[in-house]
Amino acid sequence: MSVLNCVICHHPQAIERMACTSCEITMSRQLTDIVEFYCLAEGELSPGSGTGARGTERGLGVRMSALDFLAGYDAVAILASWEGEWREHYGLSIAPMIARPSPSLNRSVAFLRAWLPRACDNHPAIDDFAHELRDCWSEGRSAARCSPPRNQSITCPADHPDDQARMCGYRIPIDADHTHGIVTCKRCRTDWDVMHLMHVVISTPGAEFWADPEAAAGYSGVHQGQLKKWARRGLLDVSHGRYNLQQIRMATAGETA
Ligand SMILES: [Zn+2]
Ligand SMILES: [Zn+2]
Repeated sequence: MSVLNCVICHHPQAIERMACTSCEITMSRQLTDIVEFYCLAEGELSPGSGTGARGTERGLGVRMSALDFLAGYDAVAILASWEGEWREHYGLSIAPMIARPSPSLNRSVAFLRAWLPRACDNHPAIDDFAHELRDCWSEGRSAARCSPPRNQSITCPADHPDDQARMCGYRIPIDADHTHGIVTCKRCRTDWDVMHLMHVVISTPGAEFWADPEAAAGYSGVHQGQLKKWARRGLLDVSHGRYNLQQIRMATAGETA
């Protein structure tokens, strides 16, 4: 068997391994982050901490997402099932899991980090593991209200080049600090004014984009001073000095209702 490309990022590698060193480092960091996110989400729920905006819709929303993360907490079950799978694959004892039947996040993370180099060498499903880990990690990140990614993408709303009945749907990357100018969709070759794409995002429920105050004011037509007021009242989250365009839309709807 010769595996020359990393099965996760598909970059060529000098040695025969399933996953490359850089993917291994990423996964190791994500595992550690998840434990941290879990603690932060717990803090979000403990009395006297968190948003300080209890009772407002935003306060409630944050608490709901922290609650979902901790209660359902898929990550605990998902990581525990990977621990079981790796133990079986490498012929290890499953005694610790039987001794403590309730899944423990810390134990699974410690195990998976210890066995990660070996799994990156030769575990046949390391790419599935990488994808599920990434999902747990991003769910945890939003529950813990950590900062959004610097670079984000927007779904291309043009017609699909091969099928006019469908939307193109290509994820066009947008640098959050350069939200002016023209971007070209790599699939349908449509040139988009970034400003126009933003308006599509603002009116799409569930989509999310963060913009600096000046850009946010430009996209939403809401004065920067008003945005500041809303942020003080707890209607808008501020992250790295940027506002969430979806929340601006909801706050605007609330004002005019
Ligand atoms: Zn890789
Ligand atoms: Zn497109």
